[in-house]
Amino acid sequence: MITFEDITKTYPDGTTAVDRFNLTVEKGEFMTLIGPSGCGKTTTMKMINRLIDPSAGTIYIDDKPVSEYSIHELRWNIGYVLQQIALFPHLTVQENIQVVPDLLKWKKSKMQKRTDELLDMVGLDPSIFKKRYPGELSGGQQQRIGVIRALAADPDIVLMDEPFSALDPLSREQLQIDINKLQTEIKKTIVFVTHDMDEALKMSDRICLMKEGSVVQCGSPEQLMKHP
Ligand code: ADP
Ligand code: ADP
Repeated sequence: MITFEDITKTYPDGTTAVDRFNLTVEKGEFMTLIGPSGCGKTTTMKMINRLIDPSAGTIYIDDKPVSEYSIHELRWNIGYVLQQIALFPHLTVQENIQVVPDLLKWKKSKMQKRTDELLDMVGLDPSIFKKRYPGELSGGQQQRIGVIRALAADPDIVLMDEPFSALDPLSREQLQIDINKLQTEIKKTIVFVTHDMDEALKMSDRICLMKEGSVVQCGSPEQLMKHP
C-alpha cells in the first residue's frame, strides 16, 4: 500500500509541481494518474522511490515512511518503467533483464529461468531474443523488455510512466494487453501514468485525475464513464 499524505513539491526555481496531494493506492491495485502535460504526474511518481523528495508531507509504503527505507530497498523492490526506453545499449536483452536480480545476488539458474519466463510472457522467444542487443530490436520490442526488466526481481510495486509513448498503435495495444495479463496473474501494485483516457479506462482499477498538482477526482472506470 502506498499513501501520499499532504505532499507538496516545489522545485528550486519556485515551480510547485505537486500541491497538497493526498492519495492511497491499495495493494494489488492498478491505479492510473491521468492529466494534462505538466500537472505533476512524473514528479509524483519519482517521489515514491525517492528519485526526488517532497518539500512537505510524507509518503508511506506499507505504513512506513519512504525516508526510512534504504535507497537500495526502494530501487530494488520498486520496478520503474520509464517513458523513454532506457535499456543499456551495451548489454544484451538477458543482461538488461538481469541487472537487478544480479545486484540481489540471485543464482544463475534462477535468473535464467526468470528471464525465459518473462520473455515468454510478452511473446518474445527467449532462444531468439536473449542474446540480442537493444539496437537489434524494434521500438515495441525494446519497450516490452523495459516492462519485463522492471518486473524481473518480482517487485511488489511497479511504476509505469507513459510506457507506451514511443510506440505505434499496434504495439501499444499489444503491450496494454500484456500488462493487464501480468496484472491479473501476479497482482502487483501498479501506478500508471498516462494522458490518454481510453488507455486509462481500458487498463485501470481506479483512475485519478490530476490538475495543477492535485487530485481533482478519483473513481473506477465505470464511475468515471457515468459521471465524466
Ligand atoms: P507531468 O508528468 O504531469 O507532465 P511533471 O511532474 O513532469 O508533470 O511536471 C510538473 C511541473 O513541474 C511542470 O510545470 C514542470 O515544468 C515542472 N518541473 C518538472 N521537473 C522540474 C525541475 N526539475 N525543475 C523545475 N520544474 C520542474
Ligand atoms: P543509479 O545508481 O543510476 O541511481 P540504481 O542503482 O538505482 O541507479 O540502478 C541501476 C540501474 O538499474 C538503473 O539505471 C535502472 O535502469 C536499473 N534499475 C534500477 N532499479 C530497477 C528495478 N527495480 N527494475 C529494473 N531495473 C532497475
